[in-house]
Amino acid sequence: FLQGQKKLEEISRLPGITMDGKAVELCINVGNVEEIKNAKVKDIEGIGLLRSEFLYMESSHFPTEQEQFEAYKAAAELCGGDVIIRTLDIGGDKKLPYYSFEREDNPFLGWRAIRISLELQEVFKTQLRAILRASHYGKLKIMFPMIISVEELQQAKEVLEHCKQELRNENFLFNENIETGIMVETPAAVVNIEDFAKTADFFSIGTNDLTQYLLAVDRGNQKILGLYNSFHPAVLRSIHKVIQTGHKYNIKVGMCGEFASDPAAIRILLGMGLDEFSMSAKEIPAAKNIIRNSNYKEAIKLAERVLAASTIKEVMAIVQDSPNS
Ligand code: PEP
Ligand code: MG
Repeated sequence: FLQGQKKLEEISRLPGITMDGKAVELCINVGNVEEIKNAKVKDIEGIGLLRSEFLYMESSHFPTEQEQFEAYKAAAELCGGDVIIRTLDIGGDKKLPYYSFEREDNPFLGWRAIRISLELQEVFKTQLRAILRASHYGKLKIMFPMIISVEELQQAKEVLEHCKQELRNENFLFNENIETGIMVETPAAVVNIEDFAKTADFFSIGTNDLTQYLLAVDRGNQKILGLYNSFHPAVLRSIHKVIQTGHKYNIKVGMCGEFASDPAAIRILLGMGLDEFSMSAKEIPAAKNIIRNSNYKEAIKLAERVLAASTIKEVMAIVQDSPNS
């Protein structure tokens, strides 16, 4: 077993490229300082998702601009590649000890993520200013969570422009062309993906929430766990639509939900043309191993067959039938 483990670690230093030469990016998701420090490892191509919540949840107050700046700067400097910072994604099951949230009957459909940022503008501005200032020290990108409408993205970008102007006036250096993208994790974002393609610089599919919202199945409810399945044709076809539309508009499409590291899903996603797979660092070697032993042309055929299937059972039968595509 140890030998196998070592082999996998060696594999993680090799490029994520299929046997017939198709390259994809393998990035990591990070959610605390320790994971960011580990991102220093050379073989990591980038951070596909920096869950900025930890800065807020591990603090006794809304973190200041300087506190956040230092954390984002460290992430940018430790990781040579792109670092996608997701703006605050609280609400739902994630609360802050120093802020009182009103009780909600349906918190996952309630006041969370971008909805909070757009309302608590000072909190949002503090975060955006910190990210902008840190963008001078590495390749940072900004990603907005739980987006359901183009207006939200436009409003978020307006606040960003406002912050840029402030920083210019204060003579701070930052990346003027910092990219802004969205988490595609609501059905509305999928349905209107073409409109988002005209406003966003990149997409990252959040299958954890997308599966929950698309199937109307609570991702944390044990009683209906059996219904929570990202191999559901509605989820697979949504993913495909997002990738296709992104590519039509020359937009890079990544995935930072857990589906991106599911051994049974990787070849399907590869065949659909997913550009970037982002997952926890420990899952990188196994995922890379699968990619490096795959044939892209076969994966395309696999994806086509899977997309034609109308039940999860059919999908799984097709996947099991083609283990080496
Ligand atoms: C997702 O929803 O897929 C995702 C990556 O975000 P989180 O799990 O933090 O909601
Ligand atoms: Mg999510």
